[in-house]
Amino acid sequence: MSPTEDFDADANALADAARRFIRTEVAAQLNDWEEAGEFPRSLYRRAAELGWLAMGYPEHLGGTPAPWRLRNAMTVTLARAGGSGGLMASLFSHNIGLPPVIRHGSTALQQEVVPGILRGEKISALAITEPGGGTDVMSLRTTARREGDEYVVDGEKIFITSGMRADWLTVAVRTNPKDKGPGGISMLMVPGDAPGLSRTALKKMGWLCSDTAQLRFDGVRVPARYLVGEEGTGFKMILTNFNGERLSMAAMALGFCECCFDEALAWARQRKTFGTALIDHQVIRHKLMDMKMRIESTRAWLNAVSERADAGIKGAEWVAEVCLLKNHATQAMQFCADQGVQILGGMGFMRGTACERIYREVKVMTIGGGTEEIMKELASRQLGL
Ligand SMILES: Cc1cc2nc3c(=O)[nH]c(=O)nc-3n(C[C@H](O)[C@H](O)[C@H](O)COP(=O)(O)OP(=O)(O)OC[C@H]3O[C@@H](n4cnc5c(N)ncnc54)[C@H](O)[C@@H]3O)c2cc1C
Repeated sequence: MSPTEDFDADANALADAARRFIRTEVAAQLNDWEEAGEFPRSLYRRAAELGWLAMGYPEHLGGTPAPWRLRNAMTVTLARAGGSGGLMASLFSHNIGLPPVIRHGSTALQQEVVPGILRGEKISALAITEPGGGTDVMSLRTTARREGDEYVVDGEKIFITSGMRADWLTVAVRTNPKDKGPGGISMLMVPGDAPGLSRTALKKMGWLCSDTAQLRFDGVRVPARYLVGEEGTGFKMILTNFNGERLSMAAMALGFCECCFDEALAWARQRKTFGTALIDHQVIRHKLMDMKMRIESTRAWLNAVSERADAGIKGAEWVAEVCLLKNHATQAMQFCADQGVQILGGMGFMRGTACERIYREVKVMTIGGGTEEIMKELASRQLGL
């Protein structure tokens, strides 16, 4: 088989498994999980058994190396079949929590933290945003003071995905209070059971089955070996980490666009008005085509950007494309959610339809992982404007 055929076979097998998982293990319970504000912890184990948590991670840590295109194919399919951003955000929160450890952590730290998370036994979260600001990362105020062979952490984080039950928190801290710039920032792993760490659940517009927390660190003592990489290198880690998060969010957004399209098309075929199916009305068909147009442009761009990542072409221009792709994909999602609800009519306003859920999940996609405004600004700077 050619490499392309190999890739297609892998992607198809993955997509089949993802659709089966959603059909048999998620769909019937999803609305209950949304009401409960979390899904069962056992789902992490299940996703690990199916090989999804480990995708893209090194083999010696229990991972399965995989190109971005394959990882994105999985993300798109799970998002399309499940239609739940909350499920995706929490089930895969390790994909934002772990990369700094993989790229910069000591061998001992990697061995202690990574395998348990990839086996679905432990939950990982990334804690950067603070009540004082998320966009302006450089101004973060949570401190980690070195005392002997420990760091003492004080401060607050907010809007942290999987924050209520994470076993490992990858926390951005200021280790040098005199340096108010990027050089004062470091990354530190904090165990979820550390004394002095308290968590408060946050109520949200969407992503309901994802546990989102405000975290408080009151003199939390952490062994100094939990520092990720060198002191003062945290800001660079955060910036690099954002690229992967934004690419994955674009893939998620594409899956949600397709989910809205699928539900709207199925509805339009079976719903009758004025003696004929909705799909027979030209206006409705055109709405679906307007959705399709955005879906296909997002897919083509996502594939192109992912292929370049897989080929190791990741310069400033690529970073700019990731930012703009995230905006394009989430705007496409916004459009598709809006049109999907419109085609479903009153039913689109009812809890339990995918379009209704996705409509409520649009805004976090244009805010989380870097806001729309900041994406444009960053892209323009990368392109030297
Ligand atoms: C459900 C959810 C889950 C999240 N999960 C996580 C997580 O797991 N970990 C984590 O660390 N964070 C997480 N976040 C936080 C998210 O990354 C931030 O909300 C986001 O970065 C924006 O920060 P902010 O909310 O403080 O907005 P602010 O920084 O206060 O910005 C407010 C508005 O002003 C705009 N703005 C700010 N500065 C400028 C400027 N210079 N020019 C133009 N416009 C500007 C912004 O674009 C935005 O529209 C999550 C957020 C949500 C809602």
